[in-house]
Amino acid sequence: MSRIPLKEVPSNKPAKDAAVQTYDLYQKREHIYTKAFTGIFRNLRMLTGWLLLVGFFGTSWLQWEGRQAVLFDLPNRQFHIFGTTFFPQDFMLLSWLLIILAFTLFFVTVFAGRLWCGYTCPQSVWTWIYMWVEKVTEGDRNQRMKLDKQPMSAGKFRKKALKHSLWLLIAAATAVAFVGYFSPIRELIPAIASLDLGPWEMWWLFFFTLATYGNAGWLREQVCIYMCPYARFQSVMFDKDTLIISYDTARGEPRGKRKKSADYQAEGLGACIDCDSCVHVCPVGIDIRDGLQYECIGCAACIDVCDDIMERMGYEKGLIRYTTEEALEGGKTHILRPRLIGYGVVLLIMFGAFIWGISSRVPLQLDILRDRQQLYVEVQDNKVENLYTLRIANKTQHPQSYELSVSGAPGLAVIGGQHLQLQANEVLTHNLRLQMDKTQLPAASFDVHFTLTTSDGSLSLTETNRFIGPSNR
Ligand code: SF4
Ligand code: SF4
Repeated sequence: MSRIPLKEVPSNKPAKDAAVQTYDLYQKREHIYTKAFTGIFRNLRMLTGWLLLVGFFGTSWLQWEGRQAVLFDLPNRQFHIFGTTFFPQDFMLLSWLLIILAFTLFFVTVFAGRLWCGYTCPQSVWTWIYMWVEKVTEGDRNQRMKLDKQPMSAGKFRKKALKHSLWLLIAAATAVAFVGYFSPIRELIPAIASLDLGPWEMWWLFFFTLATYGNAGWLREQVCIYMCPYARFQSVMFDKDTLIISYDTARGEPRGKRKKSADYQAEGLGACIDCDSCVHVCPVGIDIRDGLQYECIGCAACIDVCDDIMERMGYEKGLIRYTTEEALEGGKTHILRPRLIGYGVVLLIMFGAFIWGISSRVPLQLDILRDRQQLYVEVQDNKVENLYTLRIANKTQHPQSYELSVSGAPGLAVIGGQHLQLQANEVLTHNLRLQMDKTQLPAASFDVHFTLTTSDGSLSLTETNRFIGPSNR
């Protein structure tokens, strides 16, 4: 089991006496100025980041059979995902999908640590974009540090104003793209341009703009360290065979400055030249040489920069690298292990059940409600009548015609339309009366079966309800 060391954070208040020490639960934040760098993992992260961005900003523009391909239509309680429409009754499937995604995250974490955080988490991706904007507008690490120490001037104001304007622009674009999954984006953008927005759209656009600007621009690593629950529980999923980013202490220590030409081993030094570059690129501001820390989001920036240093020094790369605790201790990493196999098996079973649930889903829904005001009505000619409300949902992407039939007892008559026409994804409320001669009632209460059949006979659905009559017939 991996151990993540706890750090004692000294209080900024003096202790009352020498024996009593107090500690702040919230460490005073120090602004992190990250240094620009290049490397293979940065390129990989940019690739995954671009895929995420193209997916996020582009998917809402896709059309499918004349409608937005992915649209969460909350007012009509319908979720359209390409050719499939999910109704509230299908939310079980959506919950199932969320559980599968959670288990996939567990599986990946046990296997390869915080890959999600480092490469695909939106908080990380947007933070890297915001840091890139910062670098373009204010310069690299040293220039930004210098700028922040300077008193306000026209030049400083111009740089800061440009940075914040670009941050807000990105935040607004993110908010529009996000709200566009709930309100058709092709109508949302003209509505924004003409300031013709509903109150909810206005609120969510404002909220997501502010949330993106605040999280990626200001809070950054604080979200990962203090707000994200995943950062807290990921440590219990780590074991000695989990892939982690680690500093090779045995090779690196004792660290120390030296000349490039020096024979450092003869000088009694390790491979770490103590340049602090790994600290200066770290977006959460930690020193990987202190060991595995829960703040580490696994972005591999320290690997890239350290490999670059090793190359320049003519040393072997990999002083900081992806490895496992087992390998660092000289053991053999076990890829297949009970916990990983367990998650894998559960994932496969759940995925199979989900596919089965989707493929066996009937694209028609029939709900029947009996009139609750009165059990039955006695009408003329010695007849008894029951009232029903039918809710019929056509879950296909095409208009459909249905024939409604009712069975349950001889002489049962249907009063109301039996030929129904529904548009694609339409939900129809249909009132119906069933009538029967009192003398023909088989019992005071008996089952009646409502059957809906498509006009081409390809699909049929039956639901059962009760017909109630007088007990003294
Ligand atoms: S980047 Fe590499 S060499 Fe430089 S301080 Fe970090 S571990 Fe040592
Ligand atoms: S320690 Fe390295 S991998 Fe972890 S967050 Fe910092 S730079 Fe990224």
